[in-house]
Amino acid sequence: MRIDQVDLMIVPMPLVRPFQTSSTRRWTLSHILVKVTAGDDVGWGESACTPEPTYCEETTETCWHLLRDHLAPAVVGRSWNEIDALTSLYGKIRRNHFAKAGLETACWDLLSRSRGVSLAAFLGGTRGEILSGVSLGIEASRERLFDQIAGYREEGYRRVKLKIAPGRDVAVVRDVRERFPDLPLLVDANAAYRPSEADALRRLDAFDLMMIEQPFAPDDLRAHAAVQRELRTPICLDESIHSLHRAEEALALGSCRIVNVKVGRLGGLLEAKRVHDLCLARGVPVWCGGMHEYGIGRAANLALASLPGFTIPGDVCGSDKSYAEDLVDPPIRAVNGAIAVPIGPGLGFRVDEDRIARLAERTARISAD
Ligand code: MG
Repeated sequence: MRIDQVDLMIVPMPLVRPFQTSSTRRWTLSHILVKVTAGDDVGWGESACTPEPTYCEETTETCWHLLRDHLAPAVVGRSWNEIDALTSLYGKIRRNHFAKAGLETACWDLLSRSRGVSLAAFLGGTRGEILSGVSLGIEASRERLFDQIAGYREEGYRRVKLKIAPGRDVAVVRDVRERFPDLPLLVDANAAYRPSEADALRRLDAFDLMMIEQPFAPDDLRAHAAVQRELRTPICLDESIHSLHRAEEALALGSCRIVNVKVGRLGGLLEAKRVHDLCLARGVPVWCGGMHEYGIGRAANLALASLPGFTIPGDVCGSDKSYAEDLVDPPIRAVNGAIAVPIGPGLGFRVDEDRIARLAERTARISAD
């Protein structure tokens, strides 16, 4: 395989409703789409990074810079046959995982498509459908939150995740639990707590949560291990797990009992699969996290979540939960809380290039010549 050119596009998309985490409130996302071309074959990927460096140190602009000036120039015109060989072409470039994931996932699509197999099968996926959950932002109004939860339950979504932050945690979880006693429920703090604020987590232990996701700073594996020893509720790590090595450390320290596997955070599907394989071997359940990906990144998540260790419903839901229109055809939809894993070659969806061209606010092409 030899990539002749890499096309980059920044594509803004408005969210159907603003999304509030412990650190930011957003109305529009701006992901970078990556199209790789090798002869007659193409592949699509997505860098689903946030505009501000609040989830990790990367931003849309740093991803653009890395993709245009470092990653794409490192791969165009070079030969490779496996993803391992592709990633070694840019192996000297440190971190910048969301940028790498955009290029790397496009090459997975390219490679599996050129071989005529679905990306899910190519990765070793075993599921025909994945179980889907939703992630709800912090809402000021309880009634609005209850209405959203009731609506998603009616649609069949398998679990609900609530974003929490210090001072916006125990009371809202108690109210939701009272209103929905059987709801499979988890909470995600996005690293908003200090270890000195762990008392709120101890109080959350009473509400039969599936897990508490990433309470403390990403670097602080020891604080997570200390609180996990005290809690009945499993701790799940998200932001902390940026590599296979880091996942090994977290499991060795007992920092979590569940791992959120996220393609962008891990620099692509290869490292994501390695974390999955490690957890599967250790009996640690994983689920697929999301960054409100557009259809292209969402399709890659679907393929990943078809691997056997993804036993917990993840954040991968129908794209209509985030966007009025998708960029792939057919649009990704959940039916009774499950999304079918496509069986067509590569990502298994038709990419709507006309729509992408209309929406793109910046483009660049890196060619071999
Ligand atoms: Mg999270």
